[in-house]
Amino acid sequence: MPTTEAGPLGLLGGTFDPIHLGHLRLAEEAREALGLARVRLIPAGQPPHRDTPLSSSADRLAMARLAAAGNPALEVDDGEIRAATRSYTVLTLERLRAELGPERPLVLILGADAFQGLPTWHRWQELFALTHIAVANRPGYAPHGRRWPGVLSPELDETCAGRMSTDPARIAAAPAGLVIPFDMTPLDISASLVRDLLAGGHSARYLLPDSVLDYIGLHHLYRPN
Ligand code: ATP
Repeated sequence: MPTTEAGPLGLLGGTFDPIHLGHLRLAEEAREALGLARVRLIPAGQPPHRDTPLSSSADRLAMARLAAAGNPALEVDDGEIRAATRSYTVLTLERLRAELGPERPLVLILGADAFQGLPTWHRWQELFALTHIAVANRPGYAPHGRRWPGVLSPELDETCAGRMSTDPARIAAAPAGLVIPFDMTPLDISASLVRDLLAGGHSARYLLPDSVLDYIGLHHLYRPN
């Protein structure tokens, strides 16, 4: 499917503490499978749903920039890092709508774990008017977004009814509103795993880009003192 600068824009938010190959393959496979023009990585400043990240905002942003370097289809958005407030996706989407206009198709890319937690997000029901939501499988979590009784909460299940589509061609035809499950190569990589390996003095090589690993080494991140 041809893509243009004005084509659908993928959005991948995360704590990225640190960014790893699971994130990058998620972005790359979403771009290809869903016909996205580009994918914007959006590191969270103060994530509302979890403990304070181990690494500073500046370090997580720098690592995301290193990870995106050399791939013209990836860009990094520092809006949540610069904001003084908690990082709420709905606020980011409102900012992006003001920047990009009401017509540009936006696709929020989530792993299955993040999607299942959606009903805990601030003003989550408003997300569907602002963006499409693409959901990838993730090892250890129930398959992405299909309607699995008992997996998705009843309220999420109900909200998704009528929005599910497996036809990526529909993304370009509307700015927002669909829920699109897609398959990615299952990669059982998490930032927690990377942090645990490094904290234990082990190698995390090949789980994240070498440039990010070099940055971690240079700045003494995640290592025991
Ligand atoms: P942590 O282990 O610290 O909880 P994480 O590896 O889950 O971190 P996040 O920054 O919290 O990384 O994730 C950002 C987004 O990327 C989420 O939507 C998450 O579901 C997705 N994601 C992260 N790793 C993977 C993976 N290996 N496969 C699929 N999706 C992933």
